[in-house]
Amino acid sequence: MRPATLFEAVRYFSDLDTCHAYMRKIKWPDGVATCPECGSDRIGKITTRQMFRCKDCRKQFSYKVGTIFEDSPLGLDKWFVAVWCIANCKNGISSHELGRAIGVTQKTAWFMLHRIREAMKTGTFRNQIGGDYAKVHRSC
Ligand SMILES: [Zn+2]
Repeated sequence: MRPATLFEAVRYFSDLDTCHAYMRKIKWPDGVATCPECGSDRIGKITTRQMFRCKDCRKQFSYKVGTIFEDSPLGLDKWFVAVWCIANCKNGISSHELGRAIGVTQKTAWFMLHRIREAMKTGTFRNQIGGDYAKVHRSC
């Protein structure tokens, strides 16, 4: 299923499992989870917290590590709606609309849109949230 409207996107990404499945595909396109610290692929999942732990260096990390979402307290459910908007709303979206849709202030929504646009422009979005942005979005 591919969300066609902002309302559908909000509903679609409100399922954290959906968000995590996306992040997994973006972060580890070949399906092998690796440690951001030492590169080991011996990764264990801490299921209760959606966190991972490296069995070699014991580093704990979340899906957000190494992405443009890393230092943000906002949930992936909100971030993915913002990404969806930028990828799908042909006429653009205002920070007011986005803020209302995901329940954050206009200022926060502006910051999110700005960060995503910047990352897409400089290519860091591709590099940081994954090798194949376009593919991920075609399959949503
Ligand atoms: Zn490690």
